Amino acid sequence: MNCRWTLRAAKGRWMVNISQQCSHGSIGLFVPPSPPLDPEKIRELQRFITLSKRLLVMTGAGISTESGIPDYRSEKVGLYARTDRKPIQHGDFLRSAPVRQRYWARNFVGWPRFSSLQPNPAHWALSNWERLGKLYWLVTQNVDALHTKAGSQRLTELHGCMHRVLCLNCGEQIPRGVLQERFEALNPTWSAEAHGLAPDGDVFLTEEQVRSFRVPSCRCGGPLKPDVVFFGDTVNPDKVDFVHRRVKEADSLLVVGSSLQVHPHCPREEAPNCNT
Ligand SMILES: [Zn+2]
Repeated sequence: MNCRWTLRAAKGRWMVNISQQCSHGSIGLFVPPSPPLDPEKIRELQRFITLSKRLLVMTGAGISTESGIPDYRSEKVGLYARTDRKPIQHGDFLRSAPVRQRYWARNFVGWPRFSSLQPNPAHWALSNWERLGKLYWLVTQNVDALHTKAGSQRLTELHGCMHRVLCLNCGEQIPRGVLQERFEALNPTWSAEAHGLAPDGDVFLTEEQVRSFRVPSCRCGGPLKPDVVFFGDTVNPDKVDFVHRRVKEADSLLVVGSSLQVHPHCPREEAPNCNT
């Protein structure tokens, strides 16, 4: 059983609604077990939210597990615990056409499910806070577009978004859905069964399945990449500056669903040792 919670305004106070709901099926598989909620901790959170005047919220993969996306680091249910697979590395993607082919073949299979996932009550709560003027800014490490689907606008997607694709040569952007149609046109008889979904929409495929998959290029001939920051890459410095300014303007910071083990300044894989 997992506890679902939502936060809402009630008579000027910020209430935490707790409802015990069982999460079963594929969604429940990715939700880590949690200890029973401590009423005092909930009151503390209510006080914190009530007193905030300019609240900045930062979210990580943990907020999306109840939408059916596994996180990386949770015990037993996170990607690192369930598989020996590591996320794709930025340098490998740039250097190697076979790596890109494998990436896109897997991503093609995972896309219909990944793109259809929906926000859960935590995403909706943050969107409501924005509508009510309670949330000053939202920063997410997630690339799943679930905050956007919930209607959040005062939002920075620190690591980009899987719903956009860009050309590594000319920089042109296209919606990911358009690329899916091009994949389908190029691979009319290709089919593969998905074996599990990763936080970035990736799935697992065999080498034979991958080798016959055809990947389109940009109109300029350049390779295509999702508009996300892969491990080993760094976040755009302008984006980092922008978030720093929002943090300075805020009077309180709430972190939801992140282990904070990845530092946005740093190459993602080296983050734990980076102090800049
Ligand atoms: Zn191009």
